[in-house]
Order: sequence, then C-alpha cells, then structure tokens
Amino acid sequence: MSDALDRLDLLDLDDDLDGDDRLLRDTVRKFADDRLRPNIRQWFEDGTLPARELAQEFGALGVLGMHLEGYGCAGAKASQYGLACAEIEAVDSGLRSLVSVQGSLAMFCIWKYGSEDQKQQWLPGMAKGELLGCFGLTEPDAGSDPAGMRTRAVRDGDDWVLNGSKMWITNGSLADVAVVWARTDDGVRGFLVEKGTKGFTTQDVHHKISLRASVTSELVLDDVRVPESSRLPEGLGLKAPLGALSEARYGIVWGVTGAARDALASALDYAGERTQFDKPIAGFQLTQKKFADLAVALQHTQLTAARIGALKDAGRVRPHHISFGKFSNVRTALEICREARSILGGSGITTEYPVLRHAVNLETVYTYEGTHEVHTLVLGSKLTGLDAFR
Ligand code: FAD
Repeated sequence: MSDALDRLDLLDLDDDLDGDDRLLRDTVRKFADDRLRPNIRQWFEDGTLPARELAQEFGALGVLGMHLEGYGCAGAKASQYGLACAEIEAVDSGLRSLVSVQGSLAMFCIWKYGSEDQKQQWLPGMAKGELLGCFGLTEPDAGSDPAGMRTRAVRDGDDWVLNGSKMWITNGSLADVAVVWARTDDGVRGFLVEKGTKGFTTQDVHHKISLRASVTSELVLDDVRVPESSRLPEGLGLKAPLGALSEARYGIVWGVTGAARDALASALDYAGERTQFDKPIAGFQLTQKKFADLAVALQHTQLTAARIGALKDAGRVRPHHISFGKFSNVRTALEICREARSILGGSGITTEYPVLRHAVNLETVYTYEGTHEVHTLVLGSKLTGLDAFR
C-alpha cells in the first residue's frame, strides 16, 4: 500500500511535512495500520465497535482534543490535528467521527464555553479517553435549521429543567456527558447532562448502511433536572454550537482526504494485479484516465486541506473557508470513492476491499455537520451578498 501512496503523491506534498508533522503522521498511521485496519471490516459488518477501549487507545495516542491547550490536551497545531484526522479516516469515517465528536465538539464546547470547574472536571479524563462526550444539537424536526429546535430548558430555583429530544447523536449512548443545546427564555444555551441523570435516556439508531462503525443515538430528555452549575456559562446563543461545528467541520476537510486516498490506493493495487485480455487492467487507457482524473482530484483535496490548515494555524480561518473545504472535499472524496469502486469491478461491491465502505460512509459525511446544500448556500451568500436559506 505504501508504494501506492507514494505514487498517488504526484505533487510531492509529503516533502512539505516538517520533522514533527511527519513523526505525528507516521505514529497515527502506524496505530491505524496495526490496531484499526485489521478490525474495521468486522466492526463495520457487525455494526459494533469496542468504543470505550478504542477511546482510551486514542487518548494514549494523544489525538483526543489534541488541538486544545491545557487540561491534559496536547496543544498541537491545527494542521497536525488535520493530519491525524486524515490517517484515522483512511481507515473509516466512523472512527474519525468518534475522535472528532469527542475532541472538536464535546471537549471543545467545555474548553471554550465552560466554567473552570467544568473544565477541571471533564477535560483531563476526556483527553485520556476515560470519559466520553457527545454533542446534541440536531432534533427530529430541526436538522439544517437548528434555530427550529424544540428542546427547552426552564429555570426552576437554582436548577434548570430540560425537556425534548435530540436525534442522530454520535457517541450518544456511550457518553458520560452530553453537551445539550436547548432553548431558554434568553435564547439558546448549552448544558452538560451526565449519563444516569433522572429522566435522561438514550436509544441507538439501528439498520444504518453508512457509518456502521460508529454509535448513533437518540437522546430523550424528560423533565431532566440539572443545577445552574451544569450550564455552559459562555455558551450564549446559537453561535456557540455553530462555533463548535466549525471546529468539527475543519477535521472533516482533512479526514475525507484520507478516505479518498485509501480508496484510490486500493484501486491502484488491485488494477496492477487484476488481469483481463491478457494484461493488467491498469494497462488499459480507460483505467489510466480514471486514475489520472482521480489522483489529480485527490491532490486538490489535499491542497485545499493544507491551505485551510495554514489559515487556521495563522488564526485567519473564516466560516466560508471551512464551508469551501467541506463542500469541495467531501463531494470530491465521494466521487473518487465511487469511481475507484468501478475499477474493482464485482470485487468492489464487497467489504473485502475498503472502497465502497468509504463511499457509503461519505454519504453521511456529505449530510452531517451542515449538509452539502447548506455549505453551497454559505458559499453562495459569500459570493453574492444574498442569503438564500429561506
Ligand atoms: P434536513 O435538514 O431535513 O435536510 C434534508 C434535505 O433538505 C438535505 O438535502 C438538506 O440539504 C435540504 N435542505 C434543508 N434546508 C435547505 C435549504 N434551506 N435549502 C436547500 N436545501 C435544504 N447531529 C448532532 O447534533 N450531533 C451529532 O453527533 C450528529 N451525528 C450524526 C451522525 C450521523 C450518522 C448522521 C446521519 C447525522 C448526525 N447528526 C448529528 C445530524 C446531522 O447534522 C443532520 O442529519 C444534518 O444537519 C441534516 O439534518 P436532517 O437530517 O434533519 O436533514
């Protein structure tokens, strides 16, 4: 596989990694190859994941909340976090989802909007993967338009009482703490709801054909009483969860380059070995056209990720940069995986090869963290100055 990876790097982008970046990338790649890749097919087929065990291993690897400072987090560069996301998603988008929901959504919300006590209580254990978090924004009737949320938090003395439900929540039933966004008389606010709190239950979503190596749950809040100290004091208004989503979308911009790279490397290896009409199918012009198109498209996604990483490291990243990356890279990665699948012929429709698994996973990535259409509208608004959301 590494020979295929070398061949796919037509622009020698690998040469731009400095020593630290390369060490980090190689360490995560080795963990992915030794621990994740040999098991992913089974996890995906069974629709189960040893998530707690894996979380602790990701914690030991240092990737949970790795771009955050303090509280046991590594304080790495945004571009280094991106490299890690790409290596993990090269195995499976579900595994990258586990890492990004923990670090970029749940931990980020506590780190950015939480009180000092909340940070001390949760972040060190979450960085180690001993404690898991989830992020509850989406509801059955409020997806692309989170302003339509119905979950309500009402003040009652020193407490808040929460009622409502959240849908499609990654790590939902696993989480020791759920970051729940709810409507109050003063606007949207964030609350930390601990597992086991009376009235708080979860139910997993089954029968998924995408992101099977990931836990997806519904959260139900039925008169859930939490103290004022559970409210995120700095999480004021819808801009707070949207800020966290920007962080997670950034990881996606990089992550999907890994999924596309893995699919294409797999097709390149296969085409070199598969013989038809007395020669390897890699030797046919039609196959080579596919490889040329797909390899160039892959490097465009990697260049886009590197540019947005550089903007983020320089503190200059803006929401439309992130939308550019999510819009462009997820669409391209999905197209690469679909076309790469065709190179494997019939073999491409089984889980023996990762290609179609990556493609069906990317159907989720196309939809979550702001659908492709929503990011289209963000770019349209930036270009024209006119909002077309309603
Ligand atoms: P809808 O909003 O109903 O959209 C349906 C279609 O209508 C889409 O194509 C959409 O683009 C289109 N549409 C909507 N509005 C417009 C418009 N104005 N103009 C043009 N087209 C429009 N959410 C969380 O809060 N936390 C999580 O951890 C999480 N994990 C997820 C994991 C999985 C596996 C999945 C599938 C989803 C997850 N989500 C999570 C939810 C995800 O973010 C939503 O599914 C997504 O925001 C879309 O919402 P929806 O499914 O309700 O679709």
